[in-house]
Amino acid sequence: MSQIIQDIQPILACLRQGGIAAIPTETVYGLAGDATNTQAISQIYAIKQRPLDHPLIMHISKDTDIRQYAIDIPDYVDTLIKAFWPGPLTLVLRCNTALINPLVTAGQNTIALRCPQHPLAQEILRNLPFPLVAPSANPFGKVSPTSAQHVQASFPQENLLILDGGRCPIGIESTIVLATNSNGYRILRHGKVDSAHLSTIIPALELPPQTVGTLRVSGNLLTHYQPTKPLFYFTQLTEAISFCNQHPSTYVISAYPLSTFNTDQGVTLPADPKIWAYELYNQLRCADLSKAKHILITLPPEAPDWQGTRERIIKAGRYL
Ligand code: AMP
Ligand code: MG
Repeated sequence: MSQIIQDIQPILACLRQGGIAAIPTETVYGLAGDATNTQAISQIYAIKQRPLDHPLIMHISKDTDIRQYAIDIPDYVDTLIKAFWPGPLTLVLRCNTALINPLVTAGQNTIALRCPQHPLAQEILRNLPFPLVAPSANPFGKVSPTSAQHVQASFPQENLLILDGGRCPIGIESTIVLATNSNGYRILRHGKVDSAHLSTIIPALELPPQTVGTLRVSGNLLTHYQPTKPLFYFTQLTEAISFCNQHPSTYVISAYPLSTFNTDQGVTLPADPKIWAYELYNQLRCADLSKAKHILITLPPEAPDWQGTRERIIKAGRYL
């Protein structure tokens, strides 16, 4: 069984030796390994059962010069870095292929870079002479972990070292921005850094979807972040109530009291996008562990600050 520890030193030793360890970030826990070590990267793909054509985000420390890893960097990227790094924003840039292990990029000519904000993640990166790849510490397509215990439960057969950093303060994965075009950027995956915030920092630069071309990105997967039990999302309260009448064993995640649905399983969350992001994966895991047979969740509105949670719910479930 994997071991949850508080001390950073064994984690550093493991990573220096080419091993794999789980680390906290402000978004979700990552399964980390040396981004320059083919064996370490391969092991991450294997443990996660992640398809080899699905590239990994490379994590760098605050003082790293991105010009060693990326080329043809558009001018607006500096503005984004000043505004959002360290933080939950991943930048997809043209890759300096001579310096990047092709397993990281899945052979593409772009590299995804992220500079995490979490103090433990930064401390680890600062103390290593190499960047880390750190995809979410869960089997491919399943619910991401937002606590050390979630990581342990995600890989019951592994003997991983897991650094305990408590609950992840944001709770959903980073926003991914494609920044290969000097005319503007494109959001590939929504997260805490939302479109409204981005457009106040670099106005009038968001490009239409067709500019993404053939890039393989997580935004293109139809399903992801899935719990084990069937998950349905709703917008009409009456339909949700009638679903619960037909399926009495339902775990409901919504802003309404549980009594509305005549169930005692689920949670009532205040209508605050930060709280929904923080609780989403935790609640999906609670629902999987509960006696309920189905999970029902409110689909949040299309407003910018709900984009991240909304996108994950759509990928994880089906419309009622
Ligand atoms: P995750 O599944 O959270 O590890 O995020 C990985 C996602 O980051 C991928 O599905 C892509 O959307 C994006 N990504 C990572 N590396 C690259 C890359 N080299 N080029 C383009 N997108 C990338
Ligand atoms: Mg993931």
